[in-house]
Parts: sequence; structure tokens; C-alpha cells
Amino acid sequence: MTMTDDSTSRHFVREIIENDIKTGKHGGKVVTRFPPEPNGYLHIGHAKSICMNFGLAADFGGRCHLRFDDTNPETEDVEYVESIQEDIHWLGFDWGKHLHYASDYYEQLYQFAIQLIQAGKAYVCALSSEEFKAYRGVPTAPGKESPWRNRTIAENLDLFTRMRAGEFAEGAYVLRAKIDMASPNLHLRDPVIYRINQTPHHRTGATWPIYPMYDFAHCLSDSIEGITHSICTLEFEVHRPLYDWILDRLKTPCHPQQIEFARLNLTYTVMSKRKLQELVAAKVVSGWDDPRMPTLAGMRRRGYTSEGIREFCRRVGVTKVNSLSDFALLEHCIRDDLNKRSLRVMGVLNPLRVIIDNYPEGQEETFEAQNNPENPTAGTRQIPFSRVLFIEREDFMEDPPKKFFRLAPGREVRLRNACFIKCERMVKDPATGAIVELHCTYDPQTRGGNAPDGRKVKATLHWVSAAHALEVEVRLYDRLFTKENPADEGDGTNFKQHLNPDSLKTITAYVEPSLKGAQPGNRCQFERIGYFCVDPDSTKAKLIFNRTITLQDIWAKIRKAEIK
Ligand code: ATP
Ligand code: MG
Repeated sequence: MTMTDDSTSRHFVREIIENDIKTGKHGGKVVTRFPPEPNGYLHIGHAKSICMNFGLAADFGGRCHLRFDDTNPETEDVEYVESIQEDIHWLGFDWGKHLHYASDYYEQLYQFAIQLIQAGKAYVCALSSEEFKAYRGVPTAPGKESPWRNRTIAENLDLFTRMRAGEFAEGAYVLRAKIDMASPNLHLRDPVIYRINQTPHHRTGATWPIYPMYDFAHCLSDSIEGITHSICTLEFEVHRPLYDWILDRLKTPCHPQQIEFARLNLTYTVMSKRKLQELVAAKVVSGWDDPRMPTLAGMRRRGYTSEGIREFCRRVGVTKVNSLSDFALLEHCIRDDLNKRSLRVMGVLNPLRVIIDNYPEGQEETFEAQNNPENPTAGTRQIPFSRVLFIEREDFMEDPPKKFFRLAPGREVRLRNACFIKCERMVKDPATGAIVELHCTYDPQTRGGNAPDGRKVKATLHWVSAAHALEVEVRLYDRLFTKENPADEGDGTNFKQHLNPDSLKTITAYVEPSLKGAQPGNRCQFERIGYFCVDPDSTKAKLIFNRTITLQDIWAKIRKAEIK
């Protein structure tokens, strides 16, 4: 399996790599890595990073590692380790034998810390975390040196060895790099590189009472693995001097180059794992794979294709400027891809009964329908027709305005793949006045979809035979948030205040019987309505469909209407 991030997408990271190959930097090799922390499920933002790291490696004949950045036992879990692997494979990428864990390097990292102490470049500090912050100060004025900064190397070695032996309580000591308390970059003001933590780790158990901090573990893990280009998001730009400082002071196998790019943000959703975790914990959604979530597991369940997501990642491109991408662009890519691959079926979401008065009771026949007009090799299927049908309630109007060409009293329309019907009369509920059913006649001459006398109709409706249709559950999704950028809490609101109360609507619908036996994950287009995907909650007795996406961007339509 090799997928590339598409050689047509040119960007500055690609240019840096091309140039490095030309000049022979890193021996002309390209080794990248995707380094998730296993503290949540992957989201669409991660997909951008995955496509770039695995894509670039494939394009340049290099390799990409999957490394779990598992240095925080409190928030990490094997559930996440497993889901992350599943999601990357689903996206279409593979790390081969290069599955790594920062936790596999704990002993090596510990030895590197000893090296740093021996070089007089790290010390054990006993400041409390409040004192630590106060001493560190603000960027505009120098910080204050810790009273423990000038311990002897022997003292530091003794204390650090005892930290590792588990002699001290959490928070009693930390190991700090000895850099520069006056640096305008706070990350260089003697950053913590090891802390005491007694929480058992999901892989190493209780072996380690101390854990390396991200900044220490990350650059060294990159170096241990022979990474050439360490691609990360923009917020790590200010960490780069520390990344380089650590590697410059230690005897390491190599010095990877850190390159930063802008993270992906999407309108009407949040991307931080902490916030997504909050939604899961508060049961606002059914889980990490709720189809409304921006997670890859959620999008997969909803029916999004990996091809559509990869195309989206290619289109948003790679830049150095943080921005908010339009969810509509993602939907456009998904729609485009689904259009090519989806089999067409008929399903009625909001049924109105239609009785064909001149069609004999008890009789039935089948009509042939194309499975995908976009793909002639997709074949055909038979659809049953009988005296009682369901059509979409919105396809009938008692008193139609000028531009409404669908069914109305006295009017003739085409039933898709079947014949012409004409509306003769309506039956109303005497109490409410609501239309209960329509009585129509059909023209047997129009079987196959056209009238021999050449008369035309202005609309074609989808339909199902009431006696043959399957009753199914359909879950209609909308945006999870009503605010364009809910993560921006600068206006004093919490992101959860902007949840869309109507993001999920569950209805009963009727679909053609060819869908019997459909399996979770199967996708199709309900003609004239949208794309749907069978949900894993389905049972033998009842199919459940997720609406992946509507046929058109209904929000764009609404926006247009508002502007008019
Ligand atoms: P979050 O803020 O969502 O919790 P994170 O950066 O803490 O994300 P990690 O597991 O550390 O999550 O991320 C793994 C990799 O994915 C990192 O290299 C990170 O830079 C990248 N990444 C995370 N979020 C995005 C995003 N929105 N766009 C692009 N890359 C991202
Ligand atoms: Mg992180």
C-alpha cells in the first residue's frame, strides 16, 4: 500500500526536502514520523499531518514511522493506541515495521539525562510549581535563578538516581536543563525535562516513577530513530531552540531538522482532543466515533471516504499561516468522491401514501433501474411496483407556487424508473386538515419512463412500493456547533454553549427492498436526497442509516437566500 500526498501539491516543506536531497543533507535520505500522543482518537487535523508525513516519505522513496509519544501515563490508554493504528490504516497509510513508542526509549532517555547532568547542563530542582512559575517570570524581564541551580554534579547525580529509584514523592523534585533564565524565550528558562509521577503507565506499568517531558523525549526519540525531517505544527516553533539545544549538547546518532506548518482548523467544530474528550465524557455525543465528531472514526462511521479526506488534505495545502478552513470544502470533496462510487437506490424519508386507483389490487411488477448512471459497469437491479406507494411528502403541494413542478392536484409527473402518474384527488384528515393520502392514476403506456405520444412531464419523483419497502431508521446529522469558531473563547463563552441542539434527528424511513442484508459501512445514494451509510448499530431486524451528506450544500443555499 503506497499512497502519496500527490506530487502536484507543491509546498514549502516539499521544497525544503527537495533541496536537502540536492545538497546531500541527511545523506540524501528522507525519514519522517507521525507522533501522536495516545490520549484520544485521531481527528481530521491529524489526517493533514498523516497525509503529509507518510505522503512525503513515499514520494521521496523514504519511510515514515508511527511513534506513540507516550510520556504522560495519566491521560494515555491502549484504547487510543489501537484506534490510532486502525485510523491510519483506514486512511491508506502504513508504517511497515516502524511502529515505535517513546516509552521504548525510557532507559536511553534516562542515560541521556545522566549525560546532561555530567556535562553540568542539568540540575535537580526543589522549587514548588508555583515558585517555578514565579521564578520563570515573563518574556519582557529576566527570570530568577533557582537556589538549586548550582548544585554539584555529584549532588545532582545522587538526587536524580534516587528520583529514578522512587524515593521521592510527586512534585518533590524535577530535573531541569541549565540554559538561560534571562532568555526572552521562556522555553529556554531552565525547562523541566523530568518529573516524578507514580501513575502506572499503560505499557511500562510501575517500572518508572519518573517521566521525561515532551521537549526532552521528542527530539531524542527523533534522533534515536534516524528521523531526517521532524514535521510539526506551528506552536512548536518556539520550542525549536530547545529541540536543537538538547541535541547539540548530547552525543546523539543524528540531528533531525524540525519544520513547522500551520495546523488545520475547521469551521463549526473543535479540534483539540481535550475538548473532544469533554464532549465524550459529558455524553453530548455517543462516543469518539459519533458521526458528528471531527474524528476519523466518526467520519468513517458517518460514511466519509478516506479518498475524499485525502483529497481535502491536499486541497487545503500546507502553509505557515494559521487559518480556519471551511467545512464546506471537506463536504465538497466527500460529495465528489461519493458521487463516483455510490450505488443509487430509492428511499423515502417523509412518506406520503399514494394509491394508484387503476392498478389492480394484489398485482405487482418490477422495473429495471440503473445502479449508477456515472458508472455503466455498476449494472442494474429490479424494483417492485404495486398499487400503494410512498412518495416524499415535500414532492406534493396542494396549492403549488409558480416554480413548483412536482406533484399537485390534476398534474402528471414521472416516477423514477417506472411510469407517469397523475394526481386525481387528496384525502385529508377531517380533524386537522392534513393530507393523509393521494389517489392517482397511472398510464400503462408510460412504463419505462416515457409517453409514446411524446407528452412531457416537468418532474421525476423517487418512490417505493409500500408493501415491499423496508422500514429503516435514519439518523440525520447537522453541524455540531452553531458558531463558526467555537474554540475561540475570547468572547467569554465556553465552546459547549454553542452546541447545536438539532445536530441529530432520528426518523423512520422507507427504502427499496434491494437494501435488505446491507452491512455496516455499506454506502449508497438515496436518489434526489443524499448519501447514506449503514450504521453498526443496525440489527437483523432493523437497518440504521446515517446520512453522510446531502446532495447539495444546503447551507450554501441558505446563505444565498439570506443575501438576496
Ligand atoms: P490536540 O491539540 O488536538 O490535542 P495534539 O497536537 O496534542 O492535538 P498529538 O497527538 O500530539 O495531538 O499530535 C500528533 C501530530 O499531529 C503532531 O505532530 C501534531 O502537530 C499533529 N496535529 C495535531 N493536530 C493537528 C491539526 N489540527 N492540524 C495538523 N496537524 C495536527
Ligand atoms: Mg499533544
